[in-house]
Amino acid sequence: MKIALCSSEVFPFVKTGGLADVCGTLPLALKAIGHHVVIFLPKYKFINTGDFYEIKRSAKDVWTSSLGSAIEVYFIEYDDYFNRDGVYGEKDKDYPDNLERFQFFCQKTLEFIKERAIKLDIIHCHDWQTALIPVYLKEKYASLNFKSVLTIHNLAFQGVFEKEQFDVLKLDKFLFNARCLEFYGKINLLKGGIIYADFLTTVSPRYAKEIQTKVFGCGLEGVIRDRGNSLQGILNGVDYENWDPQSDVWIVKNYSVDNVLDGKLENKRYVQEAFGLDVDPAIPLFGFVGRLADQKGVDLLLEFLSHFKKMEGQFILQGSGDKKYMERLKNLNEACAKKIGVHFQYDERMAHLIYAGADLFLMPSVFEPCGLTQLISLRYGTVPIVFETGGLADTIEEFDERSGQGNGFLFREYTLHKFTEAVQKAVGIFHHTEYFKRLRINAMNSDFSWEASAREYEKVYQCVL
Ligand code: ADP
Repeated sequence: MKIALCSSEVFPFVKTGGLADVCGTLPLALKAIGHHVVIFLPKYKFINTGDFYEIKRSAKDVWTSSLGSAIEVYFIEYDDYFNRDGVYGEKDKDYPDNLERFQFFCQKTLEFIKERAIKLDIIHCHDWQTALIPVYLKEKYASLNFKSVLTIHNLAFQGVFEKEQFDVLKLDKFLFNARCLEFYGKINLLKGGIIYADFLTTVSPRYAKEIQTKVFGCGLEGVIRDRGNSLQGILNGVDYENWDPQSDVWIVKNYSVDNVLDGKLENKRYVQEAFGLDVDPAIPLFGFVGRLADQKGVDLLLEFLSHFKKMEGQFILQGSGDKKYMERLKNLNEACAKKIGVHFQYDERMAHLIYAGADLFLMPSVFEPCGLTQLISLRYGTVPIVFETGGLADTIEEFDERSGQGNGFLFREYTLHKFTEAVQKAVGIFHHTEYFKRLRINAMNSDFSWEASAREYEKVYQCVL
C-alpha cells in the first residue's frame, strides 16, 4: 500500500511529546512490513541540516529529507507561518494564527500531492492539526481518490477557534453546523476530522472505550459514539532502536537483562549527582519525565511530595509546562534538596539518563491516551507506578510476588492514600532483592515493539480500502 502520513511533529525533526515519537517510528514499521510511506510536516525554523539528517529543496516551497534509509519526508515551507521559534506557540501562549498556519499546511499538502500526481491509497492524519485533511478530501479534493484515517492522540486538544475565522477554512459556510465543524458556536477542527475521516483510531484499546463516555469524551463523546463502528484503539509501540539500554549512547553504562543491576547502579549514581542528591545505591530513586500539565497528575504528585520528607526515597523530575507547577516544584526542591531534584528543561539526553538511572517511575496521570514514558521505563528496567487509566491500564500489570507475574504497580482510586499505598508496596518489593530482580526482568521483557501495532494499522488500512 502507498501511505502518506501527515503530522505537525515527527521525530527526529521536531518533537514536543509522544506524537513525534509515534510519527517518527510508525512509518519505519510500516515500511518494514512492505508498505510505501511518505511523510508531510511543516518546515519549522529549526529543521535544518545538522547532526541527524540533511534536508534539501525540492520545489519552490517544499523541502525534502529522508527518515530511516528511504522514507521520503516533505516539509511544507511558508516562512510567515513556520519560521518561528515555537511549534504551536511561545512563552506559554499559543500563536493567535494557529488556524491559518495549520489550514495552510493541510491545503498545501493536498495541493502538492495533486500537482505531483503522487499515487496514494491512504492518507493517515494525526490530531487536530491535520484533521482538516479528511474534510478537504471530501469537500474540496474529491478527485484525489484515496481514503483517510485519523488518529486521535489526545482528545483534550481539539483545535477550537472563533467562528468569525471560518472564512480561513475556505469551505462552504453551510459546513459551520453542529453535524459538521461547529462545536458550541466555535470551529472545532478535530470534530470535523472525526466526522469526515474514513476510519478513526486512537492510541490504546482502553482509551478508545473511554472517549465514548462523558468523563473522558471532552464534549465529543456523542460524535465519537456515532462513529463507534469505525473506531479502533491500537497501542503505540516504542522505537527500540532509539530506546535500548544495551546501545544507548547517552547513558553512562549500557546494560541488558543479564547485568541490569550493575548497569543501572552506575546510571543511578550519575543522576543522583547530576540532581544534587545524596549518592546512595540503597535509596529507592523515583523518576518522572513529562509535560507539567494537569493531565499528567502533577497536582497529586505535588501533594505526595509534600509528605515525601518523612518517607523513604529520592525523587527526580524533568519536565516543563505550567508555571504554577514549576514554582511549587522549585519550592519543594529548595526545602528538600537532598531528596528532590528538578530540571525544568526539555533535554533528550537527560531523559535517557533518568530512564536508565531511576528504580521506579511515577506516572499518576489523571487520563492517559497511551503514554510512552511508562513503556520506555519498562525497557530500561525502571518499574512504573501508574494510575489505572487509558493506555496505562492496557500496558501495566500489577506485580504479584507469589506468581512472579506483572511489570509494575497500579492504583485504582485517584486518591493520595491509594497512590501512597502503591508507592509503599513498590518500596517493599524494592528491598526484596529477589522479587525486585524478577520484576525488573519482567519489565525489560515486556514487548511493546512497533511491529504488532503496524500490523494492526495495516488491517485498518485494508478494511478502509
Ligand atoms: P505526551 O502526552 O506528552 O505525548 P507521552 O508519554 O506520550 O506524553 O510522550 C512523551 C515523550 O516526550 C517521551 O518520549 C518523553 O521521553 C518525552 N519528554 C517529555 N518531556 C520531556 C522533557 N522535559 N525532556 C525530554 N523528553 C521529554
